[in-house]
Amino acid sequence: MGIPLLDLHAQHGPIHDEILKALDQTLRSQAFILGPEVNRLEESVAAYSQSYFGIGVSSGTDALLVALMALGIGHGDEVITTPYSFFATAGAIVRLGAKPVLVDIDPVTYNLNPDNIEAAITGRTRAILPVHLYGQCADMNPVLRIATEYGLKIIEDGAQAIGAEYVDGRRVCSIGTVGCLSFFPSKNLGALGDGGMVVTSDPELADRIRVLRVHGGKPKYHHRVVGGNFRLDTIQAAVLNVKLNYLDAWTRRRQDNARRYEELFASSGLLERSGLGLPEAVYRSSGVAHYHIYNQFVIRAPRRDQLMAFLKGEGIGTEVYYPVPFHLQDCFRTLGYRQGDFPEAERAAVETLALPIYPELEADQQAAVVNSIARFYAAHPVSQKN
Ligand SMILES: *Cc1c(COP(=O)(O)O)cnc(C)c1O
Repeated sequence: MGIPLLDLHAQHGPIHDEILKALDQTLRSQAFILGPEVNRLEESVAAYSQSYFGIGVSSGTDALLVALMALGIGHGDEVITTPYSFFATAGAIVRLGAKPVLVDIDPVTYNLNPDNIEAAITGRTRAILPVHLYGQCADMNPVLRIATEYGLKIIEDGAQAIGAEYVDGRRVCSIGTVGCLSFFPSKNLGALGDGGMVVTSDPELADRIRVLRVHGGKPKYHHRVVGGNFRLDTIQAAVLNVKLNYLDAWTRRRQDNARRYEELFASSGLLERSGLGLPEAVYRSSGVAHYHIYNQFVIRAPRRDQLMAFLKGEGIGTEVYYPVPFHLQDCFRTLGYRQGDFPEAERAAVETLALPIYPELEADQQAAVVNSIARFYAAHPVSQKN
């Protein structure tokens, strides 16, 4: 029985006709650029993210880029962020001529560890860019305190975490200055292609982003700033307006699946015997409903690469998010970092493995995943020292 890491057939099958209707309406309207569908999605996603304004953009990457542009971040500026995320987080900073200043992660949540931020602040620091990795909010209160004290902006990379909540129910992307979401098909709210959104409650910032999205023209053909084409396709917005209605139900099923994995792994004895580590949802006990939205269910696995190859042989899809931390990427060599600078990020890059967690995953499939992992460790026992 093959079990993919993500099964979009299972997600789109039941809503196929509804999606076709939305596509059909867009085709009949012949309105392909911005317009009512984009406006509606912007309002809904902003409200879902507890923010006043949403600006639909071409991708999560462009959401980061245009948010940084709107904050005036460029040459000579420094932005404090994590070494352990999808490439776009650091890429957006570098593309603007600014410098990502990396600080190591918390080994439990894999998110930027706020204890490391203050030592990284210099006279050039302009902003902090925390990522809510795998669907869990980074620890934002200390980030807010530091940002206030030093006069820094906060750009939240919520690409993997739409709707995820922090301790008192505040949702990701509503906590900092501005938040960035992605509608890449594998995210919890995925389009049929690329898309993203910037959300903020700052009206002036929202205006600047809206103008930058259309080449900086305001009014049209009159440019006080240089922007780009960062528009969200209307056809994607129409599809996302359909899919947003299902997001809460999908999130609950991901959370149910995470619980089922916890039970299955607990009864397998693997956690003690093989030193396997499960993801910890640190805000679960604080009365938060969307404590973790499980865009990924990431375990720590001894002999990770061998396990991954074994599971592949069993027809089970897994992935490594991410094998190379930013400071060890060739293109960032000029930043001057070295192996050993961020030990937790480096350890995570070697030890972590994402298992299937998509909403439509069945209980027997999860049992099969855990059984396969148990068989691997039975054949390759791990001494507790490594
Ligand atoms: C997916 C992702 C992005 C980029 O989003 P795209 O829509 O693929 O451009 C940025 N940051 C993180 C953490 C992501 O997971």
